[in-house]
Amino acid sequence: MGSDCLFCRIVAGEIPATVVRETPDTLAFRDINPKAPVHVLVIPKEHYADVATLAQGDPALAGEVLATAAAIADDEGLLGDGFRLMFNTGAYGGQEVFHVHAHLFGGAPLGPMLARDLV
Ligand code: 5GP
Ligand code: ZN
Repeated sequence: MGSDCLFCRIVAGEIPATVVRETPDTLAFRDINPKAPVHVLVIPKEHYADVATLAQGDPALAGEVLATAAAIADDEGLLGDGFRLMFNTGAYGGQEVFHVHAHLFGGAPLGPMLARDLV
């Protein structure tokens, strides 16, 4: 994927990001347009388009993404009050960057799970 993918370019160091945690296989950095006091994106360094492709292709790596998110939640002091992890996926999920990323939100009450009821 590489140069066509924004988050691969962040992994490669070609685009700057505020990195909060790096492991051999994952990278976490602050969202450029934060929606909560804590808004961190957690990605596998290897390119997978979305969470379904990642979980089906490399479940252990999917687990590492979760473990990295949990470590950041701990670092950011979110374990007591709670937080939200979100994987937007595909068109209905509102995904805009097609390199899988977990959104880690916290630092304030996050409101309802969806903006409105759909049923
Ligand atoms: P999605 O809608 O795909 O789930 O989320 C993509 C996220 O990537 C958005 O929250 C957006 O603000 C963030 N984003 C887009 N471009 C950049 C960038 O260049 N750097 C960083 N740190 N975040 C970005
Ligand atoms: Zn990528």
